[in-house]
Amino acid sequence: MRVNYHVHNRYSSDGRGTTEEVVARAVELGFDEVCLTNHVETLGPDGEWHVDLVEARDRFEQVRHEIEALRPRFPALRILLGAEFEYRPEWVDLLERLAATIEFDFVIGSLHVVDGHNISGGADVAEYFQDKDCAEAYARYFAALEDMVEWGGFDVVGHFDLVKRFGSKFYGPYPVEAFEDQIVAILERMARRGIGLEVNTAGVVQPPGEPYPNLPIIQRAREMGITTLTLGTDSHWPERFDQGWEAGLQLVREAGFGEVTTFSRRIRRNVRIV
Ligand SMILES: [Zn+2]
Ligand SMILES: [Zn+2]
Repeated sequence: MRVNYHVHNRYSSDGRGTTEEVVARAVELGFDEVCLTNHVETLGPDGEWHVDLVEARDRFEQVRHEIEALRPRFPALRILLGAEFEYRPEWVDLLERLAATIEFDFVIGSLHVVDGHNISGGADVAEYFQDKDCAEAYARYFAALEDMVEWGGFDVVGHFDLVKRFGSKFYGPYPVEAFEDQIVAILERMARRGIGLEVNTAGVVQPPGEPYPNLPIIQRAREMGITTLTLGTDSHWPERFDQGWEAGLQLVREAGFGEVTTFSRRIRRNVRIV
C-alpha cells in the first residue's frame, strides 16, 4: 500500500504546485492514496504566520472542489482532504472552529513554534538554539509537544522530534536516550487518548538523515500500544513528492509495524503494508 499522508502544494504559503500536478505525480509514482495536508496559517507580508478563519475556510473548500473534480480523471488514486494544524495556544479556538466547519478526512497536529521561536526554519532558528544547551533546547520542545497532545484536536502527531532538524546542526547527533522520560510520557498520553503517530520522511533528505521520529521512538510507540501510524513525506512541491518515502517504510517495518493507517472523514482504518 503506497500512501502519502503529508503533502503541501500551492495552497500552503511555503508550497507550490497545483492540485492536479500533485495528483499526477502520485499516480506516476504508483501511489494508491494521497492526502493533501496544507497549513491552516498563511505567511503575511510581515514575515509572520497568521490564521484567518474565513480565508482558511475558503482555501480548504477550494482544495476540496479541485479534489472532487480530479477524482473521475484519476480513479486509481484515493485523494483526500486533510490539514496540518499548527499548535499555538492562541490558535486552538480558531483551529477547533475550522475543524467543525470543514469536513476534513485527516488532521495532523504539528509544533513549529517553541517559546515564540520558529524552530523549523527561518531567522528564528538561531535565536532559539544559540542561548540554550542541547538539554534545554530539546526539553523545552518536548514540553510544548506534551501541551499539544494535552489539547489533542487532531489525529496524529506530525514530525514528533522536529527539534532535531536544526538541533543536530547545533549540537551534533541527536541523543534520543537523554529525553526518554519525556518522550515516553508523551507517547503514553497519545496511547491513552487514541492519538496516532506520523512517520515523516522529510527528515531523510534534511540534516538529520532519518525520519521524524527515528527508529527507537517508533519502536517505543508500538510497545506502548499505539496502533495508528501514518506515513507522509511532507513534500512542499510535486518534484519532491516521495522524498524519503522508501526509507520511512523500511523503518516502519523494522519497528515491527505490519500496517499503516488510512483515514476517511477522520475515521481510521489500518491496512497491511505489502
Ligand atoms: Zn510541519
Ligand atoms: Zn508539513
